Amino acid sequence: MGTLRLEVVTPDSTVVSAEADMVVCPGVEGEFGVLPQHVSLLSALKIGAMRYRAGGKDEYLFISGGFADVNNNVMTVLAESAERAADIDTARAQAARERAEKRLATRDEAVNALRAEAALARAVNRLHIASLR
Ligand code: ATP
Repeated sequence: MGTLRLEVVTPDSTVVSAEADMVVCPGVEGEFGVLPQHVSLLSALKIGAMRYRAGGKDEYLFISGGFADVNNNVMTVLAESAERAADIDTARAQAARERAEKRLATRDEAVNALRAEAALARAVNRLHIASLR
């Protein structure tokens, strides 16, 4: 069946550029898998874990939502931020988690709850994905 070209790109950098045997992404409507020669697809992604297999090895990444496009055996994931499990700074994610939890606990009207919830979800997911490395 061959492989599928995977590119994971953020505004700062290309985080992954690889030939993958399989990719699994956190779609807004649930997790979905993509194999080589997949039909064209465009999907919105949510905050969560992405995984791909290359050379018999599974690699895990954090992505902060974005879009996945599959076309002509090339999958491009565009995300606001993305980090490989090994590159996640767990102390930073822990601090972000505590900050978000405090904001959500205050019930202060100046706190944007949706924003704090999204920050909390990023931090919790980063900590989970870092534990998979
Ligand atoms: P923080 O409050 O710690 O900045 P955040 O969730 O608001 O966290 P993002 O806006 O998602 O951060 O990301 C900003 C930049 O910092 C991106 O380049 C992202 O890859 C990087 N980044 C954020 N948190 C971490 C982390 N824990 N480890 C490694 N890189 C991180």
